[in-house]
Amino acid sequence: MRKLLYRILAGWFGYTGTNPNPESSVPLNTGRDADLHRKLQSRMRLYTFLADHEQAVIRDFVRQFYEGKHVYAHPDITDVEDALLVIAANAALVGAAQKTHCFSSVKWLYLCADDLDVDGDAYESSTVRLDSDLCVEESRHPRPGENLVVHEFSHILDAQFGLSSSTPGLREGFERYVDDIQQGRWVPIADCFTDTAAIEPLFDSPDAAFHTDVEFFATASEAFFTNARELRQYNPELYADLSSIYGLDLADLDWQAIWNA
Ligand SMILES: [Zn+2]
Repeated sequence: MRKLLYRILAGWFGYTGTNPNPESSVPLNTGRDADLHRKLQSRMRLYTFLADHEQAVIRDFVRQFYEGKHVYAHPDITDVEDALLVIAANAALVGAAQKTHCFSSVKWLYLCADDLDVDGDAYESSTVRLDSDLCVEESRHPRPGENLVVHEFSHILDAQFGLSSSTPGLREGFERYVDDIQQGRWVPIADCFTDTAAIEPLFDSPDAAFHTDVEFFATASEAFFTNARELRQYNPELYADLSSIYGLDLADLDWQAIWNA
């Protein structure tokens, strides 16, 4: 793991070298509630399928999300505010049900262009780096198993509360997932090994390094928010535990309609 840490730090300093300065810290102007609602309707496909009270929870979360955070945006990103809205709203999926201000530990948020080796990463619970365009695209046009913001912020939540392998559904779900992947069986959860193949050379044993319960928690969370019905069919106990953690039951939404945006 030390090699990965070195790589993260090297990438981090490299990014800082592209000269973002404190002035580039961008607050998100959420405006009136009706305006925020309209913006989310056009920028977050899943939002339009949620109940009114669930939408209201997301708007409340978005309003306070950037308090105390430093945001650095790559100069190539043209619509920073768009990206900020989408990131906060998708982070709300992960954090809004928690009883604490769970992402206050994230002090530094980097909106990256194409300057990362990976789509994104979370460093301990203080720093998140995200491919900005990918966040916007996945929010507008969800695809099964893919939500970078959910992935990285579920790592933050896990780092804080020790969620991975914390319930029978997560423990047994992880064992079954690894077995299914190794046997080549289809699963509605992304293979964290192939997804992270870009940084495979960093590890002597990449298979072992990425098939961890920590990565499983993040990829299962992605499946929960992008492919809930198939996740429930695949493993009802795993689905129920994630539903309990995130305070949402999404399996009966019209997922074909969500994907056909
Ligand atoms: Zn991950």
